[in-house]
Amino acid sequence: TLSDRLTSVLQNLRGKGKLTDADIDATAREIRIALLEADVALPVVREFIAHVKERAKGAEVSEALNPAQQVIKIVNEELIGILGGETRRLSLAKNPPTVIMLAGLQGSGKTTLAGKLALFLKKQGHAPLLVACDLQRPNAVTQLQVVGERAGVQTFAPEPGNGVGDPVDVARRGIDEAKHAQHDIVIVDTAGRLGVDEELMKQAADIRDAVQPDEILFVVDAMIGQDAVTTAEAFRDGVGFTGVVLTKLDGDARGGAALSVRQVTGQPILFASNGEKLEDFDTFHPDRMASRILGMGDLLTLIEQAEQAFDQEQAEKAAAKLGTGQLTLEDFLEQMLAVRKMGPIGNLLGMLPGAGQMKDQLAQVDDKHLDRLQAIIRGMTPAERADPKMINGSRRQRIAQGSGVTVREVNDLVNRFFEARKMMQQMAGRFGFGGGSATKR
Ligand code: GDP
Ligand code: MG
Repeated sequence: TLSDRLTSVLQNLRGKGKLTDADIDATAREIRIALLEADVALPVVREFIAHVKERAKGAEVSEALNPAQQVIKIVNEELIGILGGETRRLSLAKNPPTVIMLAGLQGSGKTTLAGKLALFLKKQGHAPLLVACDLQRPNAVTQLQVVGERAGVQTFAPEPGNGVGDPVDVARRGIDEAKHAQHDIVIVDTAGRLGVDEELMKQAADIRDAVQPDEILFVVDAMIGQDAVTTAEAFRDGVGFTGVVLTKLDGDARGGAALSVRQVTGQPILFASNGEKLEDFDTFHPDRMASRILGMGDLLTLIEQAEQAFDQEQAEKAAAKLGTGQLTLEDFLEQMLAVRKMGPIGNLLGMLPGAGQMKDQLAQVDDKHLDRLQAIIRGMTPAERADPKMINGSRRQRIAQGSGVTVREVNDLVNRFFEARKMMQQMAGRFGFGGGSATKR
């Protein structure tokens, strides 16, 4: 599996101090093979590898992670990024009913999805109507009706006994029925073929034109692997779609199809189906899919923990200094950089015991402001950073000029630093984390 492969690849990197170009190239080669084995389509693999290489080369050497962990982290982040970052939700029409059309190959799981989606939406308080526009197979309509009954929603279907009906006509009448009976969502099930064919595409396009869907969901079986790209491209060009649903994730597919479809069509994956029962269904989570593709969920957790532990160590070092009043501007800068790597400045608070009192002050510090503070401190000499008391008027002027800010901003920073130091000293005394006693884990 990809997991085994990456693990063995990355073992070669273990113990080296930093990422060299040769390391990155060798690793990239192996990741490429591994992704192909996970059924990710070749062009997608190429692009992905290019991203990872670029990022790995520009990456700062992490103190918290060894090079192997660092590469995995980058690969994981890139995967999540391509898979869509955040989960996108269904977009609902301003004027109901919202029309959701399902498209995809035969057997991809459209009819089953119609039931799953209906149940999912019903639980959220919607009143969906299923519309049976697959008139291709004899029992396709019955199948949808059964699924609808199980989900406890109504199904609109052509009257039996009239021979083969016109799916476009059924679709149109289904929408009218929804308006009439106050359904706020319509889910249109359509026919599929075993392979992509023109007649099928035309029928789907005709239904699309008749009902003007708010969402067209391309339903794709995760097991089709490499074929996902050609199928997705055919549906994109033939019908167009606004989102993707991956099915049969309960099988042993590693999820390569997800990466391919997402990358090639640029459309988000909204839902994931993982079983035959109506409940086997969830919104799509890019992070979970990334760790499925990598097959290294545990490793990713370890990496997260390693980073957190490192940040905590840094915070504790600073806290120890705080108590003795020895905090320097250098520490201040170091802290700031460490905190920024982790995300919002407010996180620092969680790490300093008893620092709740400074919440208001810290809340005013946004990222742009931090950039300026950083510039100011960088404009100081090491001696000034270590002993801010020596920063007199002329030094302030020089620092301001060097870092492109006003003298007033330098004054602000220095004054605030002294205030903070004093306050923290007081708190340290009160909460007993000053001096050497701050090493509890
Ligand atoms: P359609 O032809 O696109 O409408 O596909 P169907 O909804 O009829 O599904 C085809 C087959 O796949 C059926 O036997 C379903 O029970 C099965 N199926 C659909 N979704 C899933 C899934 O997420 N997991 C599994 N294991 N089977 C599924
Ligand atoms: Mg069907």
